[in-house]
Amino acid sequence: MPLLSERVGTFTDSVIRRMTRISNEYGAINLSQGFPDFDPPRVLLDALAKVSYAGPHQYSVTFGAQNFREALARKVSKTMGRTVDPDTELCVTCGSTEAMMAAMMTICNPGDKVMVFSPFYENYGADAILSGARPIYIPLVPPEYHFDLKLIENGFRQGAKAIVICNPSNPSGKVFTRRELAAIGALALQYDAFVVTDEVYEHMVYAPNVHTAMASLPGMFDHTITCNSLSKTYSITGWRLGYLCGPARVIDGARKVHDFLTVGAAAPLQEAAVAGLELPESYYTELQTIYTRKRDFFCSGLDRIGLKHNIPQGTYFVMLDIRAFLDLPQFQGYTDLEFCEWMIKNIGVAAVPGSSFFREPVNHLIRLHFARQQSTLAEALHQLEKMAALLPDTKQSII
Ligand code: GLN
Repeated sequence: MPLLSERVGTFTDSVIRRMTRISNEYGAINLSQGFPDFDPPRVLLDALAKVSYAGPHQYSVTFGAQNFREALARKVSKTMGRTVDPDTELCVTCGSTEAMMAAMMTICNPGDKVMVFSPFYENYGADAILSGARPIYIPLVPPEYHFDLKLIENGFRQGAKAIVICNPSNPSGKVFTRRELAAIGALALQYDAFVVTDEVYEHMVYAPNVHTAMASLPGMFDHTITCNSLSKTYSITGWRLGYLCGPARVIDGARKVHDFLTVGAAAPLQEAAVAGLELPESYYTELQTIYTRKRDFFCSGLDRIGLKHNIPQGTYFVMLDIRAFLDLPQFQGYTDLEFCEWMIKNIGVAAVPGSSFFREPVNHLIRLHFARQQSTLAEALHQLEKMAALLPDTKQSII
């Protein structure tokens, strides 16, 4: 049989999505791949029902239907603090996943260096390989997930073409402060590089933290490519609606890449999603309240049963420290992946091994998410209590 490309041998399938498959196989409560188990807003469902008869059912404009881009521009303009032009500064993609891939392919030549924080959302590694870029990893050091600006400057000095910032950050839950973003942005300007952001969790930020869009900082719009999606904000991860926002010259290039990658995002879903983009500001405040409640419920539950964890500033992810378990004789020599497999089979809860996010050899963290109904979270905590009972001393502490 003919050989496959060398490229496909250089990365694995997504561990996040693999954990979902294993979880389904064993009927576990899936807190691995992050997506909600509750319905999207009613207006979206009603709009979708209407679209099924009224259409459109054929291709939309490849870079996004005009009315969708116009509604999107109105929403994005608020975050960016400037008027975003739907005709030149937006490209609608199949999820933020395609947005990030298209961004990398638009700005990178084979061999170009791109800085990526570690831990990072696993797609960025594969995106770098697929676009021919060479990642330079910048540690985000747990438990605070701080970074060293000197390392970033060093990366730019080595000629890095871009830095990827996931803000709020998956899996660490870090929300980059305005000050941190300004410092990174200043370096990007100084070294004439791009900042590529992934801001899909922009509305899942917990007080007193606030989300700042990199592109909204003075002078940064022309150097920033923002990847975002409707998946998390409107609980429609399966609709695969994402977008790129950036300066016209970049978007012009990205639209070409996007056209040949996927032609376009689903036309009927774009039409239905306009109703979501037009929701009033109160929708986002309410969403924030709902997720704050979930975070507090889940984190206090973990405290109560004595499992060590971080407290995310944003996103819907929590990192659990499993060192105490790995010290037990029955888990001697376990990798975090083996521990997660054990959890699915014996505890009935699915998590993602931390090693799939870290460049460094980190084996003691696993990621859980709380985008679940209260009853599901309560059930998961109940199951996790059985796991906590294995520990000799189950006193809670925060890492
Ligand atoms: N961002 C989600 C996570 O990290 C999953 C997104 C996806 O699988 N496309 O779990």
